[in-house]
Amino acid sequence: MATIGFIGLGNMGGPMAANLVKAGHNVHGFDLVKENVDIFIEAGGKAAGSIAQTVQDAEVVISMLPAGRHVSTVYETANGVFESAPKGALLIDCSTIDVSTTRRLGELAAQKGFEMLDAPVSGGIMGAQEATLTFMTGATDEGFTRAKPILEQMGKNIIHAGGIGNGQAAKVCNNMLLGISMIGVCEAFNLADELGLDRQKLFDISSTASGQCWSLNTYCPVPGPVPTSPANNDYKAGFSVAMMLKDLKLSQDAAQTAGLTTPLGANATALYEAFAGEGNGAVDFSGIIKSLRKSDS
Ligand code: NAD
Repeated sequence: MATIGFIGLGNMGGPMAANLVKAGHNVHGFDLVKENVDIFIEAGGKAAGSIAQTVQDAEVVISMLPAGRHVSTVYETANGVFESAPKGALLIDCSTIDVSTTRRLGELAAQKGFEMLDAPVSGGIMGAQEATLTFMTGATDEGFTRAKPILEQMGKNIIHAGGIGNGQAAKVCNNMLLGISMIGVCEAFNLADELGLDRQKLFDISSTASGQCWSLNTYCPVPGPVPTSPANNDYKAGFSVAMMLKDLKLSQDAAQTAGLTTPLGANATALYEAFAGEGNGAVDFSGIIKSLRKSDS
């Protein structure tokens, strides 16, 4: 069993760290919010008073933080992870952040004698609680081999996407596609309504024809056809508009850095930004169907 330093005990990091405790690891945790630390202690974790204390004896350091700037601070600050973790410790950032920050930190880590990998997740809070997350990892072969047994205690699909940053690349590509496909499915249902085509009929046809995709078949944005989709529960998130917008913006940052235009990705970002701006940040991302209908009428 390993000694693990876990930084960021929020909605995702809290249950992930608790699963590592349950698996028998010696887990030291740190967060700026006291309530999150208290929940971690109740789960059997050991609270640390600072980043330095969290990582000083760690064989593995895991971070689960909101955005790139938080990750940079935690790793690069004086008495942060790079300064305080034992040389040779394995550093795993599970946050969803921009590809460039991830690659820059990976290079810095290597210069300082650490193996670092990015391992953003999908599967949401329920996946974190039930240890069924998918991890998209960017790592050397050696880093991946070292990290896999630990990640398997928090998730069920552990995929090696290539070198450092490729986990984030996979996450932004996937979620850009998801945002675009959800808008496409919403537009199809709105058009069907106007043409007098029953929603269930459209679902029965398209979900088995060439229009099928996850946004339609599993997460249908109108109530009825898929009883478990948030549309049946007044669009309670699920995966919120704010989270979708964050990932779409990351996709656009990545496209810009790569010198590529993604016209549908850019449009999806603008539409989600407008929807979030109308006070819908906490709504499930499939709820955008209402605003698309509105703008057409
Ligand atoms: P969250 O806001 O609930 O948790 C983040 C935690 O980091 C907070 O508790 C915050 O206090 C802590 N933190 C911030 N700066 C810190 C610092 N300097 N030192 C210590 N702790 C610090 O967010 P979350 O929902 O747990 O998401 C974490 C990451 O996972 C994000 O990058 C998010 O995009 C990604 N993600 C979230 C979901 C989801 O469904 N919530 C799904 C997939 C990926």
